[in-house]
Amino acid sequence: MQLQSRLPESNLPALTRIRFRVRGIVQGVGFRPFVYQLADALKLSGWVRNDAEGVLIEVEGTNLRGFLIRLETELPLLADVRSIESEFIPADGQAGFEVRESLGGAAGTMIGADVTVCEDCLQEMFSSEDLRHLYPFLNCTNCGPRYTITRAVPYDRANTSMADFALCEACEGEYHNPADRRFHAQPTACPSCGPQLSHSLEEIIQTINAGGIVALKGIGGFHLICDARDDAAVKRLRERKNRDAKPFAIMALNTHSAERFVSISAAEASILESKERPILLCDKTEDTSLSGTIAPDLSALGVMLPYAPLHYLLFHEALGRPEGTGWLNAPQDPVFVVTSANPGGEPLVIGNEEARFRLSQLADLIVDHNRDILIRTDDSVMRMIAGAPAFIRRARGFTPVPVELGEDLPPTLALGGHLKSTICVTRGREAFLSQHIGDVENAETYGFLRETVDHLLSTLDVKPEIVACDLHPDFLSSRFAEETGLPLVRAQHHHAHCAAVAAEHQIEGPLLGLALDGYGYGQKGEAWGGELLRLEGANFQRLGHLANLAAPGGDKAALEPWRLAVGLLEQQGRGDLIAERFSFQPMADAVRALVGSGHATETSSCGRHFDAAASLIGVTDYNRYEGEVAMRLEALVDAPMLGENLWSLREGVLDLSRLYARLADLPHTLKDQKLGAALFHGTLIDGFAELIRHAADKTGVSLVALSGGCFLNRVLSEGLISALTESNITPLIHRQVPTNDGGLSLGQALIAGRTSKMEL
Ligand SMILES: [Zn+2]
Ligand SMILES: [Zn+2]
Repeated sequence: MQLQSRLPESNLPALTRIRFRVRGIVQGVGFRPFVYQLADALKLSGWVRNDAEGVLIEVEGTNLRGFLIRLETELPLLADVRSIESEFIPADGQAGFEVRESLGGAAGTMIGADVTVCEDCLQEMFSSEDLRHLYPFLNCTNCGPRYTITRAVPYDRANTSMADFALCEACEGEYHNPADRRFHAQPTACPSCGPQLSHSLEEIIQTINAGGIVALKGIGGFHLICDARDDAAVKRLRERKNRDAKPFAIMALNTHSAERFVSISAAEASILESKERPILLCDKTEDTSLSGTIAPDLSALGVMLPYAPLHYLLFHEALGRPEGTGWLNAPQDPVFVVTSANPGGEPLVIGNEEARFRLSQLADLIVDHNRDILIRTDDSVMRMIAGAPAFIRRARGFTPVPVELGEDLPPTLALGGHLKSTICVTRGREAFLSQHIGDVENAETYGFLRETVDHLLSTLDVKPEIVACDLHPDFLSSRFAEETGLPLVRAQHHHAHCAAVAAEHQIEGPLLGLALDGYGYGQKGEAWGGELLRLEGANFQRLGHLANLAAPGGDKAALEPWRLAVGLLEQQGRGDLIAERFSFQPMADAVRALVGSGHATETSSCGRHFDAAASLIGVTDYNRYEGEVAMRLEALVDAPMLGENLWSLREGVLDLSRLYARLADLPHTLKDQKLGAALFHGTLIDGFAELIRHAADKTGVSLVALSGGCFLNRVLSEGLISALTESNITPLIHRQVPTNDGGLSLGQALIAGRTSKMEL
């Protein structure tokens, strides 16, 4: 910010009045109390108020320079100021400083994201003298829910789900006391005036200790919770959720407690302990005290720390109600499986009635409270990649923080793809990605998609002029886009992936893009997923791709990687190996014949190549959930390894036949599987690096966007990043949105916005 430069160095009139316009995340973060206290300390008069554009301040007095400096440097913890404009106005001799009522109107401001309970509130909660001793809904201007309890801007209690709770005398006193941490804390409450929990903590912990499953209403929705050390309880949870093997996350009290189960670097600890409190995937230790069914066959485990006051109360109760607060920072035994309560791939449950209806078969005890959650918001999930955190799922703690674009776009609504969907709305130079919506393949998730569109458009007050969707004609999101009646831009899937990187890194000029994922609809309807593109502005061309793989059975091949392995062996003339390894598959001969006839579906998908390799070396023949096989293959790698001459490159097509011939001959021992996995990763890294080098030479472009779900694979990402960097090519990866399809809507929005600008 360049404020001080705007004030003359000297010669300010003795009495001056300045109006400041502050934009950014400035509502609901203690900004007005901060301004009040600052003005008070400097003996300035004037007022501060929230309005639809952010915060408006008028100050009058003799020490305005001091005010400016401190306004810039002493911002409240949660404020994220994007701009401050100032203008001189006539002094009016007003006495005193006041916080004025908010003005409504068109919303041009942002609601903050939900933030973990702060240290001060924790201290109060566990101090027996305090008004809010053991009260699960305490919060202050520095902490607590925001996005999930807010209906509209400006951010005032009347626009939140706390509107129905009248403040008691004590809370009211704090709310109006400028010296108090809760001065104008919109969701503030205490046991006598605020929300109440439906059950006692004693009952909750008794249920969990008895091996039961508790549905607990949290910040962004209900969780299902059980004891992570109780194998039978975790198995029961799997059965009831109808979830075979997809990993669960655990919640431990603090990093010291979690370190028993996973190794945690200093950088990882700071993510776990951050105010956003995502689930972080960390490498497992040798410890065996947790149920083996939490994250079976994987090397990583999702861990999170408590973030709602209620979570801390669970640990407090489980530990037998220790005195004071010393226990909060010590290693402790209790550890829970905490998973979203979303039966059968449907959206997260948020309502009390809804919970009784949808969760009664899943939970032994349903614990709710009477503070409404207004928009469902899952936990965010991250993983460290190349030294910094990357999103697997972006939701609570991060939504609705915008991505800053390097350019102005017309108001655009982008509807994402099919799996792990998000939507994106642009407003000027900002792109707002919604929270994770999920796989839009049933009526419930489609409903959630519509809800999210309505909520995001109304809280941002944007009327979209353009709508964007995937090129795939059959996606529900594409149909939704058609129904809006707005000018429609259909963005090719992998183009959108790479454009999302361009949006994050504010790249407008030419850019190479390598998109590696499971499936995307190609320009002519082909199955793509291993694509090298050249992007410029709103356009792209395909420069190269991974060699096509026979995918006998199409979608079935994604669930049953053995079909891909049989296809490869058939093409390599290895009927002997098919007979030896796959004869137990009743369909093996039919698959073989289909591939032999040359009529099998083909795909350039990198995800399918992972599946084929894993099945070929005998890791597994089935994907029990999306990405499982690739994760298991990665888990086998100590370091990527390069074999002799295992790939070839011709006219932009990266061929892996020799790699597969080598893998097919490996015996199925663990040692050889580890070798096979290392060779597979090493060959991909080396082959893709050469494919990109070649394109960089030909096009003169040395920037490359890496995007697509495969880049959640750390071995592949880090290996390719270092290989490219050594060749003086600059790789760009996602840091603000997920690299999987969760980031697609951002790229679609950029493509559609730029297309529309070109046509004007
Ligand atoms: Zn607090
Ligand atoms: Zn109260």
